[in-house]
Amino acid sequence: MATQFLLVLSVMLLIQSHGGKGDDTPISRFQQYLRFKTAHPNPNYSAPISFLVEQAESMGLTTRTIEYVRGKPVLLVTWLGSNPKLPFILLNSHLDSVPAEADKWIHPPFSAHRTSDAGLIYARGSQDDKCIGVQYLESIRNLKSRAFLPLRTLHISYVPDEEIGGFDGMAKFAASSDFRELNVGFAMDEGQANPGDDFRVFFADRTPWELVIRAHGIPGHGAKLYDNGAMENLMKSVELISKFRDSQFDFVKAGKAANSEVISVNPVYLKARTPSNTGFVMNMQPSEAEAGYDLRLPPMADPDLMKKRIAQEWAPSIRNMTYTIKEKGKLRDHLGRPIMTATNGSNPWWAVFKQAVEATGGKLAKPEILASTTDARYIRTLGIPLLGFSPMINTPILLHDHNEFLKDTVFLKGIEVYESVISSLSSFEGVSAQMI
Ligand SMILES: [Zn+2]
Repeated sequence: MATQFLLVLSVMLLIQSHGGKGDDTPISRFQQYLRFKTAHPNPNYSAPISFLVEQAESMGLTTRTIEYVRGKPVLLVTWLGSNPKLPFILLNSHLDSVPAEADKWIHPPFSAHRTSDAGLIYARGSQDDKCIGVQYLESIRNLKSRAFLPLRTLHISYVPDEEIGGFDGMAKFAASSDFRELNVGFAMDEGQANPGDDFRVFFADRTPWELVIRAHGIPGHGAKLYDNGAMENLMKSVELISKFRDSQFDFVKAGKAANSEVISVNPVYLKARTPSNTGFVMNMQPSEAEAGYDLRLPPMADPDLMKKRIAQEWAPSIRNMTYTIKEKGKLRDHLGRPIMTATNGSNPWWAVFKQAVEATGGKLAKPEILASTTDARYIRTLGIPLLGFSPMINTPILLHDHNEFLKDTVFLKGIEVYESVISSLSSFEGVSAQMI
């Protein structure tokens, strides 16, 4: 405990020496948050949480730290609104980051070095997604300095483990009675950068499935032609799956759909052999063959139809095949609806959000489905509308990449955008009950 305390103290001293009291600005606070080593496999959660708590409490916000799994804290920051009867707003971000290979970076990944010419702040997590974690607080700081009072209560959550699936983080939090008590009516979570001029916004995630197909058959001499060999049966399926993959990809190539709007099916491994001391027995046809696929289904895909296709065409028992599907999330909510947030007149929050972004001179790109998966799915599954939004325009997409950076002016513009979004959402009187 004493060594831990000393460690925290020395980290704090180090931070102060990097950006002392004289340099206490939104940018220096962003840099401080970026310097915490939050990369897997050993993310430091306690130091960034202490920092956030200090920031939040210094501006009069209340904080609560909850641990659903030991060592994996969820931080909840609250700004009380004047009308507790209205459903609340939740702004989420994750504390953790993916690892970084330091030797492949121009500047160390946890130095938060800011270049003197272009103002680029290099750090793992600068785009994904420590930017929004700090922007939420900085925009509240500005709103408070203008004596703005929210009507709706606003919660900010900082969750662990998003980058490894969120099972011990948002999944547990979203399923808890604490979460139900928050009475969330509308939520926001991370989005992605855009090299272009428009802000990207995401209304759904794709759902990953891990599919393994296996073929069984009698083994045979390498010289023999016979029916129903395991390899032959597997290759038939591989061909069929490739055709399906092409049919989906054609929509993308023809410009009829975005990458994230189709079902992607990508082979990730093939396994078949009769082992020998030196490698493979070359004159044997093996009795078992297996292939693994990564599937990503957009919310409008029909999971039952997909399962039927797999059972009847890709791994049919009449060709001695079996399969397993590991569904890494749901496609339908508790009422059987596709898990997605409407971005039209049927969702009153959408218009409020859109106007708030436009009020800052920004323009929204066509709403998108995220090609991958975030913690947003755990909240949307509950039927709560959620938009993914990280305000970063004119910025290359560098999440999980070497040399992840965010330009200082882009970060500052994001605070302004969030001021507008938070003040609009928290003043909105239109929805008086959860739309679940
Ligand atoms: Zn992220």
